[in-house]
Amino acid sequence: MKLTKDILKDHNEKIVLKTIRQLGEASRTTISRVTGLSTAAVTNITARLLEAGLIRENRHGKSKGGRRPILLGINEKHSWAVGVKIGYLYLYFVVTDLLGTPVLEHEVSLSSADPDGVVEKIVEFVDTVAKIPEYSNRRFLGVGIGVSGSVDDERGIVRSSYILNWRNVPIGSMLKERIKAPVLVYNDVDSFAVAHYAIGKAKNYRNCIFITVGSGVGGAMILDGKLYTGRGGAGEIGHMTIVHNGRKCSCGSRGCLEAEIAFDAIVERIQKRTKKEILKKRFSATTEDEAIRYIQDAVRFDRASVHHVFDEMGTLLGMAIKNIINIFAPDYLLVGGEALLFGEFFLEKAISVARENTFGDLGDAVVIDVDEMGEVAWAQGVVLNLIEREVFQVEGY
Ligand SMILES: [Zn+2]
Repeated sequence: MKLTKDILKDHNEKIVLKTIRQLGEASRTTISRVTGLSTAAVTNITARLLEAGLIRENRHGKSKGGRRPILLGINEKHSWAVGVKIGYLYLYFVVTDLLGTPVLEHEVSLSSADPDGVVEKIVEFVDTVAKIPEYSNRRFLGVGIGVSGSVDDERGIVRSSYILNWRNVPIGSMLKERIKAPVLVYNDVDSFAVAHYAIGKAKNYRNCIFITVGSGVGGAMILDGKLYTGRGGAGEIGHMTIVHNGRKCSCGSRGCLEAEIAFDAIVERIQKRTKKEILKKRFSATTEDEAIRYIQDAVRFDRASVHHVFDEMGTLLGMAIKNIINIFAPDYLLVGGEALLFGEFFLEKAISVARENTFGDLGDAVVIDVDEMGEVAWAQGVVLNLIEREVFQVEGY
């Protein structure tokens, strides 16, 4: 496995590489025009990039008679990187190429959320991929981690994750020590947001809010084109108080949005309301999958109760969305997470409550959308930023 040490030192090399990625494919003449570098300089630089295997020549440009121009494109197979979402008792891996495109996805379950065990599993996965013949010759760029809770992404430390029961876990340095390659750690919803902003439908907007609903409720913000984390950990939309003195939350507080609308709350409310014996009996949904199966059964056996419970849930979510729109005036708001499996029961309600109650015309302008990328985004966003940092980022450009 080749490691990435100073892939490119030269400022202009990075500018040329970045320009080629931006344009998809470009001739040397075009690169010279776009970057302002002389054609001689571009010829030299692209020769070095070709030699390094970072770009390749494609000979299918259009020409009116004569020789077809040579177009340069990124050689996405030059390197690979790994993104991983650390979930409750599972890891979701994505292997990407140099452009951050997923080429392999894999999920493993864990018997405990112990940090050492998690690191061990990630190391194991990286080693396994590195041994696949087509990867062994490519550069390994590092690992991006998406993890729930409050994350200090500068230092790679999980300050607190209630789901994993982690406090001040330096997961970044623990992993870096083992794989001897760069590691970037993000809150998992931040990673989700970055993926949607970089390659999803959020890419055409400057101010975007992301809310995920499932066994927890997460939030992230891209403000003025940048991921906003405050001093680390901003965007805990799930822990805004939505019901005074409401249900006890995993964070210790009461009436948080998460405590009121996440799967636990939905399951409990259906169980309280339903008259069907089969649903009354089965009430211990500890994992996300179990909760989903319970709600699916409820849809089958007592649709009316499901409608009722999700209607209340939609109202609460709508109120939360309204509050967020009033504070941030976003252009785009995306709802994601496993709860979308039951979107038909609550989305319409949530969106109408939000739009009807926002201040002035703030609710009219925002585009409200639902996630179409799925699980991969949680692991992919952070690895996209890792690749950006390690390969493409040009200081002051
Ligand atoms: Zn809370």
